[in-house]
Amino acid sequence: MNTNLIFNNTEIAFSLKSDSQLERAYFLFKMISIEPLVRIGTVATNFALKAHLPVEGLIRSTVFDHFCGGVNEDDCLTVINNMYEKGVSSVLDYSVEGKESEIEFDAAMKKLLKIIEFAKNLNAIPIAVFKPSAFGRFYLYEKLSKGDALSEKEQEEWLRVVTRFDTVCAKAKAYDVAVLIDAEESWMQDAADNLVTQLMVRYNTEKPIVYNTLQMYRHDRMLFLEAEHAKAKAGNYYLGFKLVRGAYMEKENDRAEDKGYISPICVSKAATDQNFNTALNYMLENLDDMSVFAGTHNEDSSYLLMELMEKNGIANNDARVWFGQLYGMSDHISFNLANEGYNVAKYMPFGPVKDVMPYLIRRAEENTSVAGQTGRELALLSKEKKRRKLL
Ligand SMILES: Cc1cc2nc3c(=O)[nH]c(=O)nc-3n(C[C@H](O)[C@H](O)[C@H](O)COP(=O)(O)OP(=O)(O)OC[C@H]3O[C@@H](n4cnc5c(N)ncnc54)[C@H](O)[C@@H]3O)c2cc1C
Repeated sequence: MNTNLIFNNTEIAFSLKSDSQLERAYFLFKMISIEPLVRIGTVATNFALKAHLPVEGLIRSTVFDHFCGGVNEDDCLTVINNMYEKGVSSVLDYSVEGKESEIEFDAAMKKLLKIIEFAKNLNAIPIAVFKPSAFGRFYLYEKLSKGDALSEKEQEEWLRVVTRFDTVCAKAKAYDVAVLIDAEESWMQDAADNLVTQLMVRYNTEKPIVYNTLQMYRHDRMLFLEAEHAKAKAGNYYLGFKLVRGAYMEKENDRAEDKGYISPICVSKAATDQNFNTALNYMLENLDDMSVFAGTHNEDSSYLLMELMEKNGIANNDARVWFGQLYGMSDHISFNLANEGYNVAKYMPFGPVKDVMPYLIRRAEENTSVAGQTGRELALLSKEKKRRKLL
């Protein structure tokens, strides 16, 4: 198989984009490549939304529509169906963040249950996702991860968190929809990991339904993966893991420096890349025991996974291997992989404009700081504009 260059096909990559959508995407990435503009834009947008100025329409027709599927599930349907016609599945990601009350946690759980019901009847949505902090207070995860005892009231609160996780995973199993559980900051992750492992024991008896996330920028994650593998073999259940590099690097390094402990993050980008590749290798060699969802925009990692599949005699559409990217980013990877018959899903964030703003701001900032990625998006969009003779 010639894995070389398949990502360069911009005709396939942008086949769903009209000429005007292509122009809009180009304009958008051009804007967010200008750092001061993102900084000022972020402040101005936050202010305008708080002051109830009529900016929602503007946000919707620009950054929101590029990075989000809609304000609710139904709103996302057209995009979901269009993508699926090209072989790309969707993972509906209810991206409302920063909620801290029991009512809001229950509402997030109900939303997830609704998404799973929605997914049950749609082949285009084979997978659901949630963040641990959407179902319980960060403080509780942190306290448990430190090994501190919870008060009686906190124990009751934690039980409600466990019940929310369990209710969602039980429904996912009943409806045969896989559920990915995102990973967050290292100082809360142990509690989430322990809980997810228990759920894998319960629900991954016939195949992986519950997936935890491995952030390979953490230098301890290979050991964690091997230990989880040994437990799963002994306990006779399957593992599911989403493999990512990790999104909280600066926060992690700053905290470690502030508090004077060794950072959990690999010493360099090359070390993270190496760690990611080692995990990919390990998982592909043990695919009888586990499934992998590779959440990455890195071309080399995506090519490596394709090569490992070929080397291990795994069919392109084997249900145990998925590639994942975010909606609005790296379409050249997603659509070209799907065109070759691989399983691909894009995280599709949705929610009220005001509530998904933190997510949108992160995307804008990420594309500003990961200069290479914006440059790559611009180069690809520009190539397609030329091909369509729009320049
Ligand atoms: C579908 C999907 C799901 C995701 N889910 C999660 C999740 O649950 N939790 C989460 O934390 N993130 C998640 N992410 C984000 C992900 O962790 C990365 O931040 C993002 O995808 C960029 O990494 P990359 O693999 O695309 O490639 P690249 O752009 O090649 O890698 C960038 C990443 O490398 C690492 N890195 C950069 N510089 C250094 C350095 N100096 N030293 C060490 N490491 C470095 C960082 O992790 C950085 O984000 C998800 C991403 C996708 C596409």
